[in-house]
Amino acid sequence: MTDTRMLGATFPGDSTVRLDWHDVPHPGPGQLVIRTAASGICGSDLRNSYRERLDRGERSYTGCIGGHEFAGTVVEAAADVHAVSVGDPVLVYHVAGCGQCTVCRGGYLIHCESSRRRAYGNQRDGGHAPFVLVDALTCVRAPEGFDGVDAALLGCGFGTAYEGLGRIGVDGRDDVLVVGLGPLGLAVGMIARALGARTVRGVELSAERRLWAGSLALFDEVGVPDEDGPVATVSVDTSGSPTGRRFALRSLRTWGRCAFLGEGGEVTFDVSEELLHKEVTLSGSWVTSVPNMAACARLLAERGMHPGATVQHRIPLTDADRAYRVAAEQNTGKVCLVFDEP
Ligand SMILES: [Zn+2]
Ligand SMILES: [Zn+2]
Repeated sequence: MTDTRMLGATFPGDSTVRLDWHDVPHPGPGQLVIRTAASGICGSDLRNSYRERLDRGERSYTGCIGGHEFAGTVVEAAADVHAVSVGDPVLVYHVAGCGQCTVCRGGYLIHCESSRRRAYGNQRDGGHAPFVLVDALTCVRAPEGFDGVDAALLGCGFGTAYEGLGRIGVDGRDDVLVVGLGPLGLAVGMIARALGARTVRGVELSAERRLWAGSLALFDEVGVPDEDGPVATVSVDTSGSPTGRRFALRSLRTWGRCAFLGEGGEVTFDVSEELLHKEVTLSGSWVTSVPNMAACARLLAERGMHPGATVQHRIPLTDADRAYRVAAEQNTGKVCLVFDEP
């Protein structure tokens, strides 16, 4: 590797992106460096880093290079790293933990409570640069058939969708309703399809998002929330809005299962009518684990499905400011920064 300096994107906190020069990193023990292939823009990047930097608490954005949903090819690895090798394409889980506590050993690095927990793009440099220093603990070899964009999206969004569906279970007997067809809703639709759901329907208020979702051949039907009544055995809210969440519950048949994946906000609903009397199982879910990220990638690759198909805008790093402006409108499919092949 001959490059010594690289451009990286950081967030001043006023809904702009800054490109600065940074040193190309080199691995310490247990680490490796990847050449970035792609780096997705996720809703939490917009909330936590881009719009305003609140800089409160140990999990706030520290001014590092952004991007927690990225993937690439290993270009340098420490001598003690054995699970992946130079030249391997890898998936990267979005948070690094201590690697030694119980939750880290279970792969749920997100829940590590040690002071060594660092989220890429928040407390340590992330994927919005052509090289990233990563802990081997957070890496898994990408499956055959995945390109760099496919692999990048597994690090957060697709993992989150897979975990949520896993929590409530989906199989060939299920009619699935996805509420909200932003990037996360599209991921839920693709994974529900891969799991063999009988039907997959989606509802979304944005006409542009409905158009994009409808073009992907993932959904049996794409529409607006209406008064169809109980049509689903499984519903997933990705909107995070009170009306979206209520709609997800109201659309369930008796014995239905529902997962809330959309972040933020609150909701009130009639507990007897929507939950108890309908025997509904309601689950929350937050991101995923390293093993489940790998399992999701394997499932999709085996079925010849490509997470990258949900990306509506592929934009180079040098145009990151525009990429964030597009993503911040929250009116499109996935937005992903892409990097030149070496
Ligand atoms: Zn994310
Ligand atoms: Zn830990």
